[in-house]
Amino acid sequence: MPRIRQHNVTAARWSSNGAALGSPDLTIADNQVFGANVFSPAVQRRRLPKHVYKALQRTLAKGEALDTSLADAVAQAMKEWAMEKGATHYTHWFQPLTGSTAEKHDSFYAPAGDGTALAEFSGKELIQGEPDASSFPTGGIRATFEARGYTAWDPTSPAFILENPNGALLCIPTAFTSWTGEALDHKIPLLRSMDALSGAAVRALGLLGVEDASRVFTTIGCEQEYFLIDEQYYFERPDLLTTGRTLFGAKPPKGHELDDHYFGSIPERILAYMLEVELELAKLGVPIKTRHNEVAPNQYEVAPIFENSNVGADHQMITMQIMQNTARRYGLVCLLHEKPFAGVNGSGKHNNWSMGTDTGLNLLEPGDTPAENLQFLFFCAAVIQAVNKYQALLRASIASAGQDHRLGANEAPPAIISIFLGAELEKVFTAIETGKVQPSKPGSFLGLGTPVLPPLPLHGGDRNRTSPFAFTGNKFEFRALGSSQSPAFPNTVLNTIVAECVDELTDKLKAALKGSATLEKAVTAVVKEAWSANKQIIFDGDGYSEAWHKEAEKRGLVNLRTTPEALPWLIEKQTIAAFKKYKVLSKRELESRYEVFTEQYVMNINIEAETAASIARTMVLPAAVRYLNELRASGLEDLIGEVEPRIKELHYALVKLEDANLHENQPDSSAQKWAVYMRDTVISAMEDVREVADRLEKLVADDRWPLPKYSEMLFIK
Ligand code: ADP
Ligand code: MG
Repeated sequence: MPRIRQHNVTAARWSSNGAALGSPDLTIADNQVFGANVFSPAVQRRRLPKHVYKALQRTLAKGEALDTSLADAVAQAMKEWAMEKGATHYTHWFQPLTGSTAEKHDSFYAPAGDGTALAEFSGKELIQGEPDASSFPTGGIRATFEARGYTAWDPTSPAFILENPNGALLCIPTAFTSWTGEALDHKIPLLRSMDALSGAAVRALGLLGVEDASRVFTTIGCEQEYFLIDEQYYFERPDLLTTGRTLFGAKPPKGHELDDHYFGSIPERILAYMLEVELELAKLGVPIKTRHNEVAPNQYEVAPIFENSNVGADHQMITMQIMQNTARRYGLVCLLHEKPFAGVNGSGKHNNWSMGTDTGLNLLEPGDTPAENLQFLFFCAAVIQAVNKYQALLRASIASAGQDHRLGANEAPPAIISIFLGAELEKVFTAIETGKVQPSKPGSFLGLGTPVLPPLPLHGGDRNRTSPFAFTGNKFEFRALGSSQSPAFPNTVLNTIVAECVDELTDKLKAALKGSATLEKAVTAVVKEAWSANKQIIFDGDGYSEAWHKEAEKRGLVNLRTTPEALPWLIEKQTIAAFKKYKVLSKRELESRYEVFTEQYVMNINIEAETAASIARTMVLPAAVRYLNELRASGLEDLIGEVEPRIKELHYALVKLEDANLHENQPDSSAQKWAVYMRDTVISAMEDVREVADRLEKLVADDRWPLPKYSEMLFIK
């Protein structure tokens, strides 16, 4: 059997090999694993002195500073708990601007001087770390000579234990800062933005007559899309291994046109994998709720129940890590890249977002009829205003090299930011605008045409899958995040701009109330004005269509198709002013992010381009030439005539790509120019090489082809 076919058979022959996890009796309390590896409030209550526990809870509930004199007691309890679970080491776990998580492990043990070792962990070690970590990108905030970076304990995100077959590790979520106090990570600005929004929302609630709320939390729940492929194919593809996506590969005869994968029954190996991922995540307190097959072959989705944004963002990072680690136990590789396969749907992350008070109110939950609910309309109008005012910034917050393959292509979602509200809610706003109070649709029911099925309550608005920012009943869904992206930065942006617009509307409300208008009249007037000024951002049609691109342009909405166009909005005047006002990011911190993200874009494309050139030269070209020699030996001129010119074309395109990759041919004056060069010159050179190589894939003898094909990677499960 040819080499590749043999691999397919092996790949398809997976079995759980007796390593099954089994199904324990879940009615027995000891078999419940949720939160087993989390230093949760419940564990804290059991293990901490009462006053320490209470102080910690206040920090969690009200965002108050923790008295650091209590840290020794917390450290002591945390260490004992962790060691009981087999932890020998601890780490300050943080999120540098690389977009992934970072850890540096320290042992609990220190020599006691008499030839033995003692386990120690002090409050100081809990609160502060100095990992040096000078190699993380800082966008110029830290020169290496001032390389000191600190990590600081975030008591609002619980510590957890990561298990390994050979031991366990206590992870302490921390913030990462320079010695001058500038944020070098994604957590600090997220926490600052949550404070900003809380302040603004509590002030607004006071005017709206809700006086008992003292804190507002933003909440997120991220739906994560991903691919799973057999690991044999992965390790046979240098492009997947190095860049996370396939740089070559002809379109397979079958894609997802039959829609036979979406929501299909989940294959046994995949479900076994999902169950183990969910078990691991349950131990870590990540509340996974939903799983299903996605649209593309071998594509899946997982989603948790929402949590406060900080914990939710940490949990999202843990989720991605556990998904990737667990896959290997099943002979699989989990691909989180935004576009692992050309011509096949890519992967995103839907960021469900809302605001809730410490008293349990969801500020984006409409009342019985939406028109009645002033509070809901007020906050909803603030979100609409924020998204319209900062469209470009929101787009920039999700920009990356991987994302450029999805946004702006004919695939979810478009690069143009718009809001979908649903028919009913749109009617309410329109009624307010025109002054006609139009009763919202009476609660109707959807009959299913047979009495054996119960009537279903009909939602006021249908869903719109193409919208990048959609209202979905009691939350907004920012659908444009990349699958591999940390949700922290987009949520930082969202929280900050909404805080500003809540404040803007609150100021107006205050003024209107001074003029002795009733609350209802005043809110209606404020909402009406915000709606009229911002309704251009509302769109309920097909976001993928060419017509929408034209219409959006007419409306003056921004369409930033690529990362180099989007990122400069991070350092626009309006952005800098808002982020300064709300103390979320200083100008220097914003500039550092712009620089780091731009460099990441350049480097990612550079790595892809060099990988593509190397595969083309050392794998594809030799395979094609060998095949040509076989044809020559056969003397079949027609066949030679089909292949030979393609090889020449490939060589021509390859030399051009290698040329584009040469450092001396690239601009080095500014990161922005470099990024534009990568986009305009390098990417197109890469695409030209791929185009010929993919044609050769369909000509060259299958047993000669050096790379696993789409039809194999995407369909063998
Ligand atoms: P769909 O695929 O229809 O969008 P899912 O059930 O897959 O729905 O995902 C909905 C997500 O929205 C879940 O992660 C859920 O926890 C989250 N969510 C629900 N309410 C809120 C809220 N108030 N704030 C943030 N996220 C929420
Ligand atoms: Mg969704």
